[in-house]
Amino acid sequence: MIYRSRIVTIGSLSLGGDLPVRVQSMTNTNTCDTESSVAQCIRIIEAGGEMVRLTAQGVREAENLAVIKKHLRAAGFDTPLVADIHFNPSAAEVAARMVEKVRINPGNYADKRASFTDTHFTEEGYNAELERIRERLLPLIGICREYGTAIRIGVNHGSLSDRIMTRYGNTPEGMAVSAVEFLQIFRDEGFNNMVVSMKSSDTRVMTESNLRLVRMMQAAGMDYPVHIGITEAGEGEDGRIISASGIGTMLSAGIGDTIRVSLSEVPEKEIPVAKEIIRVVCGDKGRVTENIDEIEFCERDTLYKPEVYSFDGEKYVPEFTSEGSRTIVSFEPSKPPLIGDIKGDDVILSVIFSEDDDEKLTIDAAALLGKYFIARKAGGICVVNNVKRGQDRLRDLSYAILQATEARITRNRYISCPTCGRTRFNLEAAVKEVKNATSHLQGLKIAVMGCIVNGPGEMAGADYGYVGAGQGKVHIYRGHNAVLLNIPQEEAVARLLQVIEADQASR
Ligand code: SF4
Repeated sequence: MIYRSRIVTIGSLSLGGDLPVRVQSMTNTNTCDTESSVAQCIRIIEAGGEMVRLTAQGVREAENLAVIKKHLRAAGFDTPLVADIHFNPSAAEVAARMVEKVRINPGNYADKRASFTDTHFTEEGYNAELERIRERLLPLIGICREYGTAIRIGVNHGSLSDRIMTRYGNTPEGMAVSAVEFLQIFRDEGFNNMVVSMKSSDTRVMTESNLRLVRMMQAAGMDYPVHIGITEAGEGEDGRIISASGIGTMLSAGIGDTIRVSLSEVPEKEIPVAKEIIRVVCGDKGRVTENIDEIEFCERDTLYKPEVYSFDGEKYVPEFTSEGSRTIVSFEPSKPPLIGDIKGDDVILSVIFSEDDDEKLTIDAAALLGKYFIARKAGGICVVNNVKRGQDRLRDLSYAILQATEARITRNRYISCPTCGRTRFNLEAAVKEVKNATSHLQGLKIAVMGCIVNGPGEMAGADYGYVGAGQGKVHIYRGHNAVLLNIPQEEAVARLLQVIEADQASR
């Protein structure tokens, strides 16, 4: 499959076509705090960010975008700014006059979060909903046209409308349909200055929804650029590995015109990670334009459990005894095999690095190997580094790649949002505290989210959640249900642990 997007102009920046994949990030300051927001935008830009997104949860924040933009332009920065909108069309209509691009979420622009109050949509009812959404979008389309503002249709797994959930469920197909319906409304009005995204904290959901989206766009004669990212990737090495696995998979398939790595860290730290993923997957051109990987998914999850190998200098040593012969496919980072070259789960994939920078090694290995495990193509993994040995370190990295691609679960998965202007506590510290308190457990999905507005919907199937509920207060979730409300932050980790331990004791 070759997906060649149209070129879209966003202020001083163009993206799409054969242009290099663009890098962006998002502030986590209060958008009404001009000084902090401007300073953080500058840090992101100086790190190499080519677009900066800011949350605009209300009209006040949307209006202040103009002030932030004025300060940045006066300081000599012409980087395009993007307003991030949820639940508030009025804020979108203000922001579209202030900044170069507005991101809207089809799951909550003209709809509330899915509540399943309305679960019987006839064909007529479904189309009437689309008509209602069209009416609600018309003012925004008019403003964007007048001001030359671009739009991102940004769908998130776990944030779909009743209408979509009823017909498709919380699925990659539902996500893709949700986006294409909105793209179609804008296109019908002759507006094409659009980018589209499908995000999830799950690498397989993210990749599958993007593949479906691209196929649906091609079938409909659409060619809008695609923004790629893993949401709530977490922090530290785990956040880098899951981001590199998911984003690397899409970029190597030639899909992706701009990327954002979402880490629960200061946003400027996202930029070098994003740039390294692009470097190792796309090379000098900054984009994969030939030898496009065909990625397909097969249903092998119940049997799929890749093995981990180490290399002792002479032979590959399996961590688990296995029967039958194994084919070893060794490759260097500059020449990874195509997905289609790997056949059968008796293949051990071995990538051979000469890398003394540990962070680069981590990102490169995940970006290059992740796609084979997301597509369920290989039965074994072996990371070799000619510069530094450390078999334990390389084995841990291999397990982390299998965990990130959900190929083999050996520890907990921590989902945490990158924070934004809605966050009212130190989320990075909370993630570390939650990890420390629960590291003795295995196989749980635990979410740490910055706010109750979007957090619960976007925890994406987490078993437990620690969700900010205002200044210094936290709600504790079991699945989708808040089981403890307004717990003071200093007690929240202990209370979360009590809930988990009580559940485990009762099993
Ligand atoms: S969950 Fe809330 S705080 Fe976290 S990034 Fe999303 S909107 Fe911001």
